[in-house]
Amino acid sequence: MRIARIAGQSGSLFAELDAEGARLWDGPPWAGGRATPTRLAPDALTFLAPVEPSKIVAVARNYRAHAAELGHAVPSEPLYFLKPPSALIGPGETIERPRGVERLDFEGEIAVVIGRRLRRADPRESEAAIFGLTVANDITARDVQRREGKFTRAKGYDTFCPVGPWIETRPPRLDAIEVTTTLNGRRRQHGSSALMVFPIPALLAAVSETMTLEPGDLVLTGTPEGVGPMLPGDAVTVSVQGVGELTNPVQGAET
Ligand code: ZN
Repeated sequence: MRIARIAGQSGSLFAELDAEGARLWDGPPWAGGRATPTRLAPDALTFLAPVEPSKIVAVARNYRAHAAELGHAVPSEPLYFLKPPSALIGPGETIERPRGVERLDFEGEIAVVIGRRLRRADPRESEAAIFGLTVANDITARDVQRREGKFTRAKGYDTFCPVGPWIETRPPRLDAIEVTTTLNGRRRQHGSSALMVFPIPALLAAVSETMTLEPGDLVLTGTPEGVGPMLPGDAVTVSVQGVGELTNPVQGAET
């Protein structure tokens, strides 16, 4: 099943996609929402980021070759940080390069949507609590990250978390999902969850030791090697096998 969040006349609506368009739900599926009889035609669908998370957790250096390309060792336990929900944008929305940022990087990632509350869970419980997978781009001001040595500002600007276009609730096996990033149609990143240092269930379990993961929360699982810069006028696409494809244009900040 594919769940999207659609722009409606008075706010956003969750919807289940099918061949004839979409069927509306009366709330988020992970918070007691149910399917309604109301249908929307395909041309009436404007896709928003498919989640409204209480927090976005992002995992760093979870692919050996990516850690190496930035001059880092692989961490001995999962390393993660928070991105603010204010950074979220949906498919087709514009990534803004902030004033003063010299190097704006893409990081294509497989993203997990939590379906049930997780606190101090083990990997098996964590896997069972996954609602579905979506596609994310962990946009990074690399010069800011290098200068500050911290993630909060470098990865927290508005528009730095494109997500979508929908959530796939029956994705492929978690340990064999390919992720690809193209910039202006040219392939720049390609990896597989088979290459992760810590597999997805172990990541969720580790995060849940620190902070309770709530239904609807989003976890970005790290990026493979090949990260690189984007310029205003570029278009970046992240594809996750069996899930979907997320494209966003890049613009300079308005003065
Ligand atoms: Zn990342």
